[in-house]
Amino acid sequence: MKMQASRVGFSTGNVNGELNELSRRLDFFQEIGANLAELTAVGLDVVSNCQIIEHRVDQLKKVLMNREMEYTIHAPIAINLLDNDHYDLHLRSVYAAIDLAEAISARLIVVHPGRAPREEWDIREQELLDLERSAMREVGQYAEERNILVAFENPSPNEHHFSGRAISYALDPVRLAQMIREVNMDSVTACLDISHAQQGAKLLSLNILEGVSALAPYVKHIHFSDSTGIPSDIIWDNNGERLFMGIGDMHAPPGWGEINFPALADTLWSNRPPSAGLLTTAIELRSNHISHSSKETLRFAKSFTEEIMGTHS
Ligand SMILES: [Zn+2]
Repeated sequence: MKMQASRVGFSTGNVNGELNELSRRLDFFQEIGANLAELTAVGLDVVSNCQIIEHRVDQLKKVLMNREMEYTIHAPIAINLLDNDHYDLHLRSVYAAIDLAEAISARLIVVHPGRAPREEWDIREQELLDLERSAMREVGQYAEERNILVAFENPSPNEHHFSGRAISYALDPVRLAQMIREVNMDSVTACLDISHAQQGAKLLSLNILEGVSALAPYVKHIHFSDSTGIPSDIIWDNNGERLFMGIGDMHAPPGWGEINFPALADTLWSNRPPSAGLLTTAIELRSNHISHSSKETLRFAKSFTEEIMGTHS
């Protein structure tokens, strides 16, 4: 039987319109052995007003071609399909990310699920969940016609969640799994962000392994980094402080936080259906960790991914 090779690499981060900088980052990731890159859609300056800027995409394609790389795209984090007042804008933004994926032959885009103010959630939770489901189906239809996967990601708890002002049902992977199961389309899948799952579990007093085992059947893509899960709900000034103190979304190399990676790999492996197909992993290290920890992290993330796919030797 032919073993399916793993696809593991790094998130490119925001390049602020500099495609030369993107090229430099891809060169480096390729040099150390990555065979996947997740492009941060924002900052490529290839989409404006939810439309592809053709000449910029042509330049982007030149940067991406002739590399042994598969690409995924992270859509703008601002997209919120539960923001009823601006639904069309959010939907057109997801479509633009799918169009971009199609243009550069990326297989998958990552989108954050919907969230809503607490007072709205308290009054009409079921109605909001129904809206989310039909929005995901609309997105799934558009993606399916273009042979793209949309992976909805369990998000990171932020100050709106800490203060109780906003509700994001997908902080709990069990609820995200339930939503994706109900949508019931091959093109609508999950991205498991491991660090977010750790933080969501601590914030909501959940069992991370229970959440991950529920989401596992739908996971086509992983965001990989370490954290403690301790909420960053103190007054802080910069990400260096958050790393030093071990709070929030640390985007740290494995071993710098408290995530039990072997237990997660085992849970994902044992709950993945045999037909699950390719699993890709994008490492999300903060840029200051790249120079000192990228090789080590890539090695770790590769064997983590292969353990889940059952191809680890
Ligand atoms: Zn994300």
